[in-house]
Amino acid sequence: MKAIVVERLGPPDVMQLRELSVPQPGPGEVRLKVEAVGINFADVLAVAGEYLTRTRVPYTPGMEFAGVVDALGEGVTGVQVGQRVASLGGRGGLAEYALSPAAALIPVPQNLTAAQAAAFPVSYFTAYHGLKTLGHGREGEWVLVQAAAGALGTASIQLAKALGMNVIAMASTEEKLQLARDLGADVTLLQDDPDRVQKVRDAAGGKGVPLILEVVGGKRFQESLDMAANRGRIIVIGNASREQANLRPVELMKRNLTVTGLWLTSLMGDQAATREAAQALTPLVASGQVTPQVGPTYALADSPRAFQDMLDRKTTGKVIIEP
Ligand code: NDP
Repeated sequence: MKAIVVERLGPPDVMQLRELSVPQPGPGEVRLKVEAVGINFADVLAVAGEYLTRTRVPYTPGMEFAGVVDALGEGVTGVQVGQRVASLGGRGGLAEYALSPAAALIPVPQNLTAAQAAAFPVSYFTAYHGLKTLGHGREGEWVLVQAAAGALGTASIQLAKALGMNVIAMASTEEKLQLARDLGADVTLLQDDPDRVQKVRDAAGGKGVPLILEVVGGKRFQESLDMAANRGRIIVIGNASREQANLRPVELMKRNLTVTGLWLTSLMGDQAATREAAQALTPLVASGQVTPQVGPTYALADSPRAFQDMLDRKTTGKVIIEP
């Protein structure tokens, strides 16, 4: 089968298209015939060797994918060969066939295409945990969504609106802000607007924003503190700038701010939180109230270009690769 292989870490062009043997599912695993792979910023960082955990090479990237179950490992029940599923926490998605723990499979509502299914798990579960599990967002409350036209950003806008919240969306271009408005954002602002701090504070009733989904990091992190309302909650989800941020704890103290980290991988181990998120998300997706935003779609051989386009901030929605 055709697969992407990374033998040394670095920029996207370290990814190579190779011929590999089809993997065999071990106990508790299933094999999928991969139809679509959702590319996360985490994949880009992992190939660069800059992710939260160490990337061991050689490996095939792709942690989020959708496809048809093609073989079952020993002891797997409750899944049928031929069923379309998505995997959150599988491995080696950038290939014609990939393995996933059966426990990491998510049923795909009938109304979703394979690409939409691959665009769903990471972004929507992360958005739910940011807005509700850790963010404790309430109906009628304002939330600031950064990188609003990206995969997580578009998921966060839709979900916040479905939960009755008011959204301020920030992104780097007017075109991206238009997408945010199309998805229901109430206020949109260019990320480089010189008056952005004051404008965000004004938009949220002059007192700052009670909830911020922080994904850019670096010097923008200080701005998030400045944009937050007293007693505001800042959920640190990403560091797309790849710069260090400074945090002076005394600043949190003075304004009773809360800064909470969110990493989906470790939250997935919390079964109660995962169940609650799934129960909230499934009906919203099945009814079409939220629709995973499929962004640009690439062939397997074009994986390096897909990753580079993400780094260059050229993409909106979830970048999809179809093996
Ligand atoms: P996106 O599709 O949103 O792509 C990243 C976006 O980040 C870009 O489009 C860009 O939007 C913005 N950005 C800001 N500064 C930079 C920069 N210096 N270089 C590149 N991009 C920049 O990707 P994802 O939805 O996968 O991820 C969004 C963020 O959320 C990432 O930081 C990611 O690591 C994080 N994340 C974390 C999770 C967790 O479990 N903690 C789970 C999922 C995502 P713009 O041009 O508008 O600024």
